[in-house]
Amino acid sequence: MRKVLLYSGGMDSWLIDKIWKPDIKLYVDMKTRYSEEEIKRLPNDVIIEQLDLGKWERDDAIIPLRNLYLVMLATNYGDDICLGATAGDRVLDKSPQFAYKASDLLSFLYTKQHWTEERKINVNLDFKGMTKKGLIAKYLQEGGNLEEAVNGSFSCYHPEHNQECWQCKPCFRKYVAFKMNGYDFGSRIDNIVKNYLSENIIPDILKGTYGRADEEKDIMEVYNKLCVKQ
Ligand SMILES: [Zn+2]
Repeated sequence: MRKVLLYSGGMDSWLIDKIWKPDIKLYVDMKTRYSEEEIKRLPNDVIIEQLDLGKWERDDAIIPLRNLYLVMLATNYGDDICLGATAGDRVLDKSPQFAYKASDLLSFLYTKQHWTEERKINVNLDFKGMTKKGLIAKYLQEGGNLEEAVNGSFSCYHPEHNQECWQCKPCFRKYVAFKMNGYDFGSRIDNIVKNYLSENIIPDILKGTYGRADEEKDIMEVYNKLCVKQ
């Protein structure tokens, strides 16, 4: 079975590529507000397809049924399709039920008939149970290099001069995940993240409105260490 990873360009897909070792990395250019920035940084061996779903993008960046479109497109490249979902993802089109139902529907549509051989499609959510911190730990266990992962992955919403800003959601989540795996970012980035956390994230955690219980403990631990360091 050819393995296809739907590659978003962010930290999760960078790590899953190293761990899962797909045959094909597929990036779908959906013409969203982040597409241009993401495309600039894709590794050379990523295949780019276009599907203009950006026109359906809502203000909260959700594109209804996004992952159903993506797995349909990916069947043109292989049968084992990994969505790259991790534990932080809450939308239903990254759920185990979705993976089961989509695999069932797509395999049905690829039943042997006049235009196709029999194909069994598997929508793969192997990484669904893993946090970003856990993904890094697994990558390291398999001989990965921490420095290479920090520099190779990029998830920033507001890059400045092609550098990560360290004060947007994906940047601080990357920071926390690598910090929990022992990476030292240095005092300049430490300070930026500490200020970002204290203004934007810690108040929500303390009020109980942050909404990502699996990450809160790590964020608090990292934040408390940053405060002690001052
Ligand atoms: Zn950023």
